[in-house]
Amino acid sequence: MKTLVIGGGGREHALVWKLKQSPLVEKIWCAPGNGGIAAEAECVAVDAGDVSAVIALAKKIQPDLTIVGPELPLVNGLTDAFRKRNWPIVGPSKQAAQLEGSKIFSKEFLERHKIPTAKMYGTFESVRKAYAALSSASWPLAIKADGLCAGKGVFLAGNAEEAKEFIAHVLEKKELGPGGNRILLEEALGGEELSFIILTDGKSYAPLVPTRDHKRVFDGNEGPNTGGMGAYSTDDLLPDELRKGVIASIVEPTLRGLAADGIPYQGFLYIGLMLTKSGPKILEFNCRLGDPETQAIVARMDFDLAEVLKDVADGKLDASKLRWKAGASVCVVLASGGYPGEFASGKRIGGLTAVGQNSGVKILHAGTKREGDTVVTSGGRVLGVTASGSSLNAAVSTAYKACTKIRFDGMHYRKDIGAHGTRLTAAGG
Ligand code: AMP
Repeated sequence: MKTLVIGGGGREHALVWKLKQSPLVEKIWCAPGNGGIAAEAECVAVDAGDVSAVIALAKKIQPDLTIVGPELPLVNGLTDAFRKRNWPIVGPSKQAAQLEGSKIFSKEFLERHKIPTAKMYGTFESVRKAYAALSSASWPLAIKADGLCAGKGVFLAGNAEEAKEFIAHVLEKKELGPGGNRILLEEALGGEELSFIILTDGKSYAPLVPTRDHKRVFDGNEGPNTGGMGAYSTDDLLPDELRKGVIASIVEPTLRGLAADGIPYQGFLYIGLMLTKSGPKILEFNCRLGDPETQAIVARMDFDLAEVLKDVADGKLDASKLRWKAGASVCVVLASGGYPGEFASGKRIGGLTAVGQNSGVKILHAGTKREGDTVVTSGGRVLGVTASGSSLNAAVSTAYKACTKIRFDGMHYRKDIGAHGTRLTAAGG
């Protein structure tokens, strides 16, 4: 099977790594890929969000299966263009990708189908009307730009002054671009977050193992939000009763709602949950796998990903094929100095070869590129040190041992990825 993976981050490296282990896979291309993916697949310098450029590439290489990593190609209609030509692809249509591409679309969908979510106060294009609505809001308040804003579109305001500042920044100064042409105001939910991702062919679905992401840059969930500083997976994150509740009150009503609205959904659907005192509620949908959650998920896969994804593309998903390793996995992100603010690139990365020989650890590349024989940094999140183990403690300790062996100028990482989970385990759940 000739396979094409679209994207160039840690998530795509994880997919390429797993696909390469399949005896069914003959060759992998990745567009655009990165410095680590280049060691395992042929990277092609094509902009993932440019639908016509990806179509031109696929015409040339004729993949038997294409897998889309990031949201932008999906929101831009890449899968529609493939399906029109009968080319096998995994990923939702442009319309279904609106679940992520428009927070207002997704909120209206949730309200229409009575699926538990934060209460919405309203949607606004005008600063004046948005300000007026603040007088009847409770605090804190979640303010969300409607469209894709590279992770900067959500703000939790503690009071009216903070809220006004963010609203002006988005609606008046247009500092988030066209993704901020409209906003929605909603109740801020409290509780623990959980990422629940399913794979579906539009008829059947299979949940992936549960994961928890760490969005803030510093230990103890301090500092600004990032694209994700690490993630871990263990079945303890989702006790059986909670799992059943999430499936009955969230997953199945969502799939039924999509079917009732005539929006077939195929691909990965990421459901961001808040486990509130009054039960699990949806914070957000993503129309693709999360990053860095994917790294932790892939590390627990005990099945042939290429076979399962080909089944999805052919509309024949068999959920019983998804088997998982017991135990746990973790991904610790090594980031550039200054990230998530301004950071320098082009820093030489040392220690990769030594760590590559450690068993149970895989270094997945996110922001790297090759310069001759060396690998240098080229992004904010640089590497995802990924490990699995018989317990979360074991996986965490393997990953952190490997982190100490990698060096680049300005490198920083959180020291508490998975710590909450290990505390829970120590306390007996
Ligand atoms: P999103 O951009 O929709 O992925 O949201 C990013 C993050 O904002 C989520 O992972 C939550 O941490 C937070 N968030 C979004 N909506 C809410 C809400 N209603 N209440 C509290 N936190 C929220």
